[in-house]
Amino acid sequence: MLDKVLIANRGEIALRVLRACKELGIKTVAVHSVADRDLMHVRLSDESVCVGPPSPSESYLNIPAIISAMEVTDADAVHPGYGFLSENSDFAEQVENSGFIFIGPSAETIRLMGDKVSAIEVMREAGVPTVPGSNGPLDDNKERTLSLAKEIGYPVIIKAAAGGGGRGMRVVHNEAALLKAIYVTQTEAKSFFGDGTVYLEKFLENPRHVEIQVIGDGKGNAICLGDRDCSLQRRHQKVIEEAPAPGIPDAVRKEVWETCIKACENLNYRGAGTLEFLYEDERFYFIEMNTRVQVEHPVTEMVTGVDIVKEQLLIAGGQPLSIRQEDIRITGHAFECRINAEDPNTFLPSPGEVKMFHAPGGPGIRVDSHLYSGYKVPPYYDSLIAKLISYGMDREQALTRMEIALDEMLIDGIRSNIPLHKDLVRDAEFQKGGVNIHYLEQKLKLRS
Ligand code: ADP
Repeated sequence: MLDKVLIANRGEIALRVLRACKELGIKTVAVHSVADRDLMHVRLSDESVCVGPPSPSESYLNIPAIISAMEVTDADAVHPGYGFLSENSDFAEQVENSGFIFIGPSAETIRLMGDKVSAIEVMREAGVPTVPGSNGPLDDNKERTLSLAKEIGYPVIIKAAAGGGGRGMRVVHNEAALLKAIYVTQTEAKSFFGDGTVYLEKFLENPRHVEIQVIGDGKGNAICLGDRDCSLQRRHQKVIEEAPAPGIPDAVRKEVWETCIKACENLNYRGAGTLEFLYEDERFYFIEMNTRVQVEHPVTEMVTGVDIVKEQLLIAGGQPLSIRQEDIRITGHAFECRINAEDPNTFLPSPGEVKMFHAPGGPGIRVDSHLYSGYKVPPYYDSLIAKLISYGMDREQALTRMEIALDEMLIDGIRSNIPLHKDLVRDAEFQKGGVNIHYLEQKLKLRS
C-alpha cells in the first residue's frame, strides 16, 4: 500500500486525487505554482511545496522540481492527473529511475501509445477495429500513397504520429490535393512535435466519439468499465459527456469491450486507460489510447460504482484489481457538463475573482470542483472550473436532474458557460441521443 502520494497537478483533478488518497488513508503532498497558493487541495493536503512561477513550463511541467519535491517530502509515488506530465514517458521513466512509483502505466507503454502509428499497430494485432488506412507511416513512394488513397476512397485524413490536442491533422478531399497536404502536415508535425512521421486514414464524415474505459493490474489482467459518448465537442474539446453511449446494439458493444480487454492484457497494461473510437454505422474505429485518468471519468464511476482513482492508487501500491469483469454492472445513466470560466458566447477565457459560488445538490448530483467564494481563477491555466455530474435510473431522469442542477448552480464574479449547458440539455436532438461530433459546432454556427 502507498504511504504518501505527491499530486503533480492542480484544480479539480488534484482535489479528486486528494479525496481518493484520504479515503485510503494515504498522506498527500500538493505541489503548486506561485499563482496557485490558494487552491483548495493545497489547503487540504498534509504538505505542500511551491515548485515554480505561474508558467506551466516552469512549474507543473518542471520535471526536476517535481522529483525534488518528492525527495524532500519523502513521497513514495506521484499521481500526474490529466494533462501536464500525465502522458510524458520521460517523466514516468525519471520518476521510476529515481526510485519512486509513477501512478500510471510503464514508461514503455506510454511511449508506445503516444505514437499513434505504433498504438494502432498494437491494437490492430489484438483484434481492435481500426480505421482503414496506411497501417503505418507514409514513406517517399508517392505512387503507392496515391493508389492507397484511391483504394480507400476520398476523403482521407493525414495525421501526425506524434500529434495531440487536435493538432497535426489535415483532411484531403481529392487526389489533386493529396501530396501537398502530406508535405504540409509533415512539415508542421516536425516543427510542433519534433517528429515529421505522418500516416493516412479514411476520413469518416459523421462519426460519434465513443470511448472505452479500461483498468489493468500490470500483470496481465484487465477489466472494462464500459463506454462513454463524448461527441458534443467544440474545437475538439469535449463539452458534455455521458455513460453509457446511447443507442449502441449490445452485441456490437460487447465485442468491442472484449477486444479492448484483450489488448490491455496483451500489453500488461497497468492502471486506468481509455481507448478512443470513432463510431459510425454501428461500427467502432480505434483512433488513439489515453494512458491516464480522463476528465470525464466520473460518468463511468456513476454507472459502475467503481472509484477509478482509488483503483489507480491501489494498483500502483501493488494490489490486485478490486473487482472482476463478471461483477461489473452498468446501471442507470450519467452526464457530465464541463463548466469553464469563459464567455458563453465568445468562448474567451474569463479569469478573476469568484465573488460567490453555490454548488447544486439533490439526488444523483455530484460536483467535482475546486471553486469556493473568494477564489481567484488565475489566467495561466485551463479554464475548467467545475464538472457537474448527474445520475439517473435512465437517460431521461439523468438529463432532467442535470437541467435542475444547472438552474441551481451559481458562479458570480466571472463568466461561465453554464448558459450554453442550459441550452444544450434542452436541445431536442441531444435529448434524443446519438448526435455526431459536428453537431455542436453546427448548432453554434446557426446561433451566430
Ligand atoms: P488528438 O490526439 O489530437 O486528439 P485524435 O486522433 O484523437 O487526435 O483525433 C481528434 C479528432 O479528430 C477526433 O475526435 C475526430 O473528431 C477527428 N478525427 C480523427 N481521425 C479521424 C478520421 N479518421 N475521420 C474523421 N475524423 C477524425
